[in-house]
Amino acid sequence: MKEFKAESKRLMELMINSIYTNKEIFLREIISNASDAIDKLHYKSLTDKKIKIKKEDFAINIKIDKEKRTLTISDNGIGMTKEELETNLGTIAKSGSFEFKEQNKKKEDIDIIGQFGVGFYSAFMVASKVEVISRAFGSEEAYSWVSSGIEGYTIKKSAKENYGTDIILTIKNEEEYNRYLEDYEIKNLIKKYSDYITYPIKMAIKDDKETKEETINSLVPLWRRNKNEITEEEYNTFYSDKFFDYEKPLSHIHTKAEGTLEYNSLLYIPSHASYDYYSKEYEKGLQLYSNGVLIMEKCADLIPDYYSFVKGVVDSSDLALNISREMLQQNRVLKTIANNIEKHIKNELLSMQKDRREDYLKFWEAFGLQIKAGIYNSYGMNKEQLQDLLLFYSSKEDKLITLNEYLANNKEEKAIYYACGSSIEQIKTLPQVETLMANQKDILLCPNYLDEFVFKVMNKFADKEFKNVCSDNLDIDSTEEKEQLQKLNEKSKDLLALMKQGLDVQDVRFTSKLKNHPVCLSTTGEISVEMEKVMNAMPNSETINAQKVLEINSNHPIAQKLQDLYKNDQEELKKYSKVLYAQARLIEGLPIDNPTEITNLICDILVK
Ligand code: ADP
Repeated sequence: MKEFKAESKRLMELMINSIYTNKEIFLREIISNASDAIDKLHYKSLTDKKIKIKKEDFAINIKIDKEKRTLTISDNGIGMTKEELETNLGTIAKSGSFEFKEQNKKKEDIDIIGQFGVGFYSAFMVASKVEVISRAFGSEEAYSWVSSGIEGYTIKKSAKENYGTDIILTIKNEEEYNRYLEDYEIKNLIKKYSDYITYPIKMAIKDDKETKEETINSLVPLWRRNKNEITEEEYNTFYSDKFFDYEKPLSHIHTKAEGTLEYNSLLYIPSHASYDYYSKEYEKGLQLYSNGVLIMEKCADLIPDYYSFVKGVVDSSDLALNISREMLQQNRVLKTIANNIEKHIKNELLSMQKDRREDYLKFWEAFGLQIKAGIYNSYGMNKEQLQDLLLFYSSKEDKLITLNEYLANNKEEKAIYYACGSSIEQIKTLPQVETLMANQKDILLCPNYLDEFVFKVMNKFADKEFKNVCSDNLDIDSTEEKEQLQKLNEKSKDLLALMKQGLDVQDVRFTSKLKNHPVCLSTTGEISVEMEKVMNAMPNSETINAQKVLEINSNHPIAQKLQDLYKNDQEELKKYSKVLYAQARLIEGLPIDNPTEITNLICDILVK
C-alpha cells in the first residue's frame, strides 16, 4: 500500500468526514473528468489521421448495481497509464490547490467543498471505496487503482477490454447514501448538473419488462442554439422547467457574444414576484456554466440588486470550472459579462415600456418597488441607470406614466409636481391637490411610502425639481395675488399669533391656494407629513416631527369669522383654532392627540 501525499491526505480526510450538505456534486465532478478525458482523445483523433474514432462513438456510461452497492461511471476517453494513475490520483492535482492551502489555514472546511470544484476526491464523500480501472489509449495494459480511505492506495495490474476509464464507487453503507443507487436519483443529478455535457451520458434503465439504454443529457443546451431556431414555446418550457415558475415570463433575452469574450446568456423577466421575493430569504443570482458544466447555482455577482428578479443562465468558455467564489468576484471576464447583462436588461425593459405597455405595467406592479428601492438605497447613485424605468400615477392622464412622459405632457411647467398619501383616491381629496387639479395641473399621485424618498434623493429629473404640492412653495400665483395675500397676513399678524398659541405648529397663515376647503396642513423644511408618517412607523427610530403650518383659506367664510372672534371673543378663537387644526390633521391622515377635548369643543360650537 502506498501513502497519499500530505496535501491529498488532508483533502481526502475532509471528504470522508464531510458534513457538507451538497454531497451530490461528486457525480458532476466525475462526469466532467470523464468528459475531459474524452475531449483529449477526441482532439487526438482530429489531429492524428491514423486514429479513426467517430465522434458518435464517444460516450459516458453509468451503471448501478444495488446488490454490490456500486455506482460505475465509465468513459471511452484517453485513459491513464500506471504512472498517470499514480501521479494524477495519488497527488492532489488541482489547479486550485494553492487556494486550498490558503483556505485550509482558516479551517473553513465546508466552504472549501462549496467553493472549489474538488474533483476526483469528492467521490469519498459518498463512497467507502473507490476503484479506478483504466487503460490508456494505445496501450494493451490496464491498471486498477483502489483506495478505501486515508490509509493509502494500491495499484495493480488489471484487465480491461477497451481503452478508457471505469470509476467504481462502493456507496457508503448508510441510509442517507442509498439514493445514489437509485436510477431515478442519478438521472436527476445528471439532468441537474451535467445536462449539457457534449457527449452522451447513457444509462441502462430497467422497467418491469426490460432494460433499455437511455441518453440522459440533452447534449446541446437551449442557450447555445440559434435564436431563430427556437420557438417561444421552447423558451417558456425551459423557463418553467429550470426555474419552477409555471406562469409565463414577460420576456426573454438571449444573447451570444463572440470575439475576445465568448459567452451565451439566456435571461428571463418573470411576470410576478415569487412568494419569497420581498423577503430576506430570497437569493438573487444567475446560473453559471463553464462550457456547459454548471459551476454555480446562483452567481450573485452577475446581476445588480435592483435587477435581482431576473432569472437565467450564463455560459462562458472563458471561465475555469474550478474557479472559487472569491476569485469570481474579482474576475475580469465575469465583470464584463455582468456589465453587458445589466445593459441588456435595461434595454429590454425600456423596449417593453415603449412597445408593450401592458406587459410593462405587469412588470411594474411586480417589481416597481425594487426599482425605486434601487434608487433610494444607493442615495441616488443609481439614478442614471434607473430613472427612465420609473412610473408614477398622473392626475391628468389618470394612469401610470414615465417621468419623460410627464415632461412631454407638461412642457410649460417649471417643476414636477407630486402629492403623497395612502391611496390615489385619498390623495385626490387633499385640499391642495383638489384645487390644483381643478386648475388642470398635472400632479403625480404617490401612494407608495418610498415615492417621496425617491424624489428627495433624485433631487431633479432633467433639470426640473420635484415639488410636493402640499408642502413646498409652488410659486405659481401671480404677483398681484401674492402681494394681496402678503398684506392680509401682515395685517392679521396678532390674530395668527394668538391662534398659534397652544397648537403644535410652526406657523399659522392665510392662503389663497385653497378653493372650497377651509384649511389644510403644509410643512416647511425637509420633512413632509408623509415622510413623518413613514419614519415614525419604522422600528427603533426617534420620533420625527415635520414642521407643520396650518393654512387657512382666505376666501372662505371662516376667515371672516376668525377676524370677528379676534375682536370680540378671544377665548372662543382659541377653541376654533384647535378644531381647525384637528380638522387639517384629519385630512392629512394624522392622528389627533386629544380626541375627547376636540369632540367636546365641536359640540360646544354646535349647540351655540
Ligand atoms: P482536475 O480534474 O481538476 O485536474 P481531479 O482531482 O478531478 O482534478 O482529477 C485529477 C486528474 O486525474 C485529472 O486531471 C486527470 O488527469 C485524471 N483523471 C481523472 N479522471 C479521469 C478519467 N476519467 N480519465 C482520464 N483521466 C482522469
